[in-house]
Amino acid sequence: MRKMVVQTIKNLFSKPVTVKYPQELSPPPPNYRGVIVYKEELCIFCTKCELVCPPGAIRFTYSEDGSKKFHYNPYLCIYCGECVRACPKEGCLTQVEETAPPATESTIPDWNGVEREAVESKKAWLAARQKRAKKS
Ligand code: SF4
Ligand code: SF4
Repeated sequence: MRKMVVQTIKNLFSKPVTVKYPQELSPPPPNYRGVIVYKEELCIFCTKCELVCPPGAIRFTYSEDGSKKFHYNPYLCIYCGECVRACPKEGCLTQVEETAPPATESTIPDWNGVEREAVESKKAWLAARQKRAKKS
């Protein structure tokens, strides 16, 4: 009983172990695998990162001319690092210690829209390519 009273008094004056999330973020442990940083200038658009990503947190959308645009959803990412390992261009994808910012309406991407666009734009690009091939 005495022990319990002492501990209770101690707890009353000790710093809380929790933080006031989302105003305050807990510091990541050393070597924490966080969000992915992408450098478009190094990318060769091989789409290997999209293929290996388990939850589908990377998607490419296509333009008519076949150029691709990288999209990343940090809220879907499980921080496994598979995309970094699969990427043939060193430094194009890196995994930093930062976590995704607190989710607000402005930070969450319209991922359903991106996924739809990824599928539709790829189909349109493939169809256009087939058409061009038939003509030539
Ligand atoms: S770290 Fe894993 S989950 Fe996140 S984007 Fe890369 S492959 Fe996908
Ligand atoms: S694997 Fe690397 S080089 Fe290939 S598309 Fe992804 S980021 Fe670009």
